[in-house]
Order: sequence, then structure tokens, then C-alpha cells
Amino acid sequence: MKYDVIVVGGGTAGCACAYTLGKLGLKTLIIEKNSYLGGTMTAGLVTPAMNTVSGDNTDFYKKLIKKLASIGGQVTYTDGNKGWFNPELLKIILDEMMSKAKVDILFDSVVEDVICDKNHIKSVKINSEILSVYIETSNIIDATGDCDFSKKINCNFLNKNDEYQPNNLRFIMSGINLRKFSDWIMEFDKDRNVTTSAEIDGQIHLSTAYTWDTDKNWALRPFFEDAVKKKVLKYKDTSYFQVFTIPGMPDSLAFNTPRIVCEPEINPLDPVQRSKALQSGRQSILRIANFCKMYLLGFENAYISSIANSLGVRVSRRIKGKYVYTIEDLRNGKKFEHPCLVSDYPVDIHSNKKNTSVLEKHSAYSLPIESLMSADYDNLYVIGRCISADFEAQAALRIIPSCFSMGEGIAKYIASQTNLKK
Ligand SMILES: Cc1cc2nc3c(=O)[nH]c(=O)nc-3n(C[C@H](O)[C@H](O)[C@H](O)COP(=O)(O)OP(=O)(O)OC[C@H]3O[C@@H](n4cnc5c(N)ncnc54)[C@H](O)[C@@H]3O)c2cc1C
Repeated sequence: MKYDVIVVGGGTAGCACAYTLGKLGLKTLIIEKNSYLGGTMTAGLVTPAMNTVSGDNTDFYKKLIKKLASIGGQVTYTDGNKGWFNPELLKIILDEMMSKAKVDILFDSVVEDVICDKNHIKSVKINSEILSVYIETSNIIDATGDCDFSKKINCNFLNKNDEYQPNNLRFIMSGINLRKFSDWIMEFDKDRNVTTSAEIDGQIHLSTAYTWDTDKNWALRPFFEDAVKKKVLKYKDTSYFQVFTIPGMPDSLAFNTPRIVCEPEINPLDPVQRSKALQSGRQSILRIANFCKMYLLGFENAYISSIANSLGVRVSRRIKGKYVYTIEDLRNGKKFEHPCLVSDYPVDIHSNKKNTSVLEKHSAYSLPIESLMSADYDNLYVIGRCISADFEAQAALRIIPSCFSMGEGIAKYIASQTNLKK
């Protein structure tokens, strides 16, 4: 068994990469530890994709939007963002797209062993009794988010001990009367700084937010303050609250909440700390759901319908690549010979303390393809949130559309190199 490319991790970046590789005629295998594709978008319930200048400029994203829309799993929001998607339907569409691109998938699998010849990866073995053979490959993509594969073969990393952001555990509430909630919040939030609503394809779509920071005139502030006073919420639950509607789920809201704040910050690579964060997050979800039912109109019959399977991790291990992209590169809009993405998404650093989160806006910047190439192995590439970028730059590059661009970009690069060799 020999592949042109093995993609370890069938998540956000991994799917874009594998699909493009398959479409370009390369024999491709995804090794995915979950039993479905999508990673943070599905297991982490992270929806919608953020809007950037690059937006839907990858073929993968365009195809995905079209396919999701055909089954009622996508809408274009009022700001022109096409990335409002349904995470459950996404699982099905990603399966379909990989079949069409002739990409092989091994679910419920992780790499158990790797054979290398000096700085060249030759084959991998997965954790299956039936498939207890070494699978040969010409190239490996680490798309695991945490650089799990690269860790196995002792690559060098950039992350330092103080470079964390708080993690979120996302969830969905259903049974909400969205029209009632929309009418009420639009009337209530006179400032309309963070609240928007519209009827799209016959469904109410909306978004609203609150944080404990004092930078905005948050309409929901009196409710959060009252709920803390009455012990419905703990103060830490008020750190961050954000909701989005989901296409095809007309009585549901996706919560980008709770932000799990701890002092010191949780290291998501530590299984003990990660487990505690999950437990604490689920307790917080129960309190926040009760708060919604008590304080927000339209939530009278609402209930928790889904809690993310995975902790939402913003940053963890980052590879040392052939090029380390820095915040200065981003701020200066440095030009590169081989850019793999263009974006204008801000540097978005969440903090575990009040009034210290960062949202630093910039005009368009690009990322060189060399930031996706391992410095240690000649056929190892890394895509997604674990790329070779410093902490601040990564905080701008980690969003879904940028992960798609990285995946598609490296796939095209590998295809061009493979064709040269043939
Ligand atoms: C709380 C939160 C909110 C966010 N909000 C937004 C938002 O609103 N919009 C936006 O655009 N972006 C948002 N982001 C950012 C974005 O969702 C992520 O950064 C991005 O999806 C990460 O993509 P990835 O490909 O790096 O990792 P993932 O999508 O997580 O993919 C990694 C995949 O690798 C698999 N895997 C891991 N280890 C192994 C292994 N050892 N073997 C095999 N498989 C493995 C995982 O199961 C997963 O499928 C948010 C992130 C977080 C955490």
C-alpha cells in the first residue's frame, strides 16, 4: 500500500488539503481519530466561518458552500459572509466530497509508529489490528491542530510555556422561539453594536454578544450582573457570551461560550488540565443555559441539545518551519514569492483577564508557503492552527477560511512537485 500523501487529521485544514490532492489526481489517505471529518468545525461545534478578504476564494470552500446550500446547511449572512454553516450536515457533505475526490479515509485511527530514513518519512503504522502494516507514503501532512504527528517524530516547536489563550467549550440550545428572541433583542439592544438579525430563506438568523470587558455598550450587561448577584451565574461565566443561528436548525443557537477562564491559563496539551477544563466547561454550560431560560425572551422552552465533543483550542503546539512567520511580517504586510493565503482577519487574542483581550485590525497580509514546511523533515508539511508562526501572528491565521487556504495551497504545491518528479 503506497500513497502520494497521507493527511493526519481530517479537520478544517486537513479536509481542504485532502480534497484538493484527490482532485489533482494524487493518491491520498486521511487518518482521523474521530469517527467523522471536520475537526473543530464539527467536533468543536465552531460555526460560522469568519469573514475575511480571502473569504471563499478557495475551490474547496466554494464547493463546500454550494453543496451545503443544496441541502439547507448554509446561508449567506447580512454582512456577505457565506460561511454560516450547519456542523451536522457538514459531516455528511465532507464524506461526500472526499468520496468524489477519491480520498481514502481511516476513521477512529491514529498513527502508532513512523519509519524514517534520516530526515525523510517513509511509512506509518496505525493503531489497528487488521491494518497492522506499515503504509508507505511520499509526503505527510500534519493537520492535527496540536502537531500530534510531528511530536511523534521529535520535530522542533515554537510554542513557549506562557503562550496560551483560554479555550471554549461550545454548545447548542434548541427549542428556542427565535422570532420572539429576535424581536425582543432587536428592540432591547438600541445600540446595535453587536446585535444583528435578518430573515434569510424563511429562517430567522441573528447574532449577539456580551463580554465582561468594558469596551462596548453591551446591552445584555444588566442581566449578566443580576444573574451573578442571584448566583444563577458565576462571575467567570460572564467572561464571554456569543450566539449564532445555524442554517437548517430553525429553533437553535450555537453558543461560542463558555470561555473557560483559569489562573494560570490551561495548557491544552496537558491531558489533566484539558480534562478539568472540559468538566468545568460543562458545569458552566448548565448555568448559562439556565440563565438564558430565566432572562432571555424566547428561551422559555429551550434546552441544551448538543455539547461539543472536543474542547475548542485556539492555540497549542506550533511547528518550527522553514520560515517562521512573525507579527511584524503581518503588521508590515510583507510580500512573499509563494503566498498560500491572503487575509485581513484581525489579531484575535482572548485573555483570561478582564479588559486585556486583543482585537488588532490590519489591512491584507499574506503567509508564505514555507511556513507550512517542517524545518526537520523534507516531506513533512503542517497546516491549520499549528503552523510555523509566532503566537500573535497565529492568532490572526487560525480562522476557518485561512485553514482552508493553507490546505489547498500546500496540496497544489505538492501536486506540482509530484508532477515534476514524474
Ligand atoms: C472556541 C473557538 C471559537 C472559534 N471561532 C471561530 C469562528 O467563529 N470562525 C472561524 O472561522 N474560526 C473560529 N475559530 C478558529 C478555527 O475554528 C480553528 O482554528 C480551526 O478550525 C482549526 O483547524 P485545524 O485544521 O487546525 O484543526 P481541526 O479542525 O481541529 O482539525 C484537527 C483534526 O485532527 C484530528 N486529530 C487530532 N489529533 C489526531 C491524531 N493524533 N491522529 C489523527 N487525527 C487527529 C482531530 O480529530 C481533527 O479532526 C475558533 C476556534 C475556537 C477554539
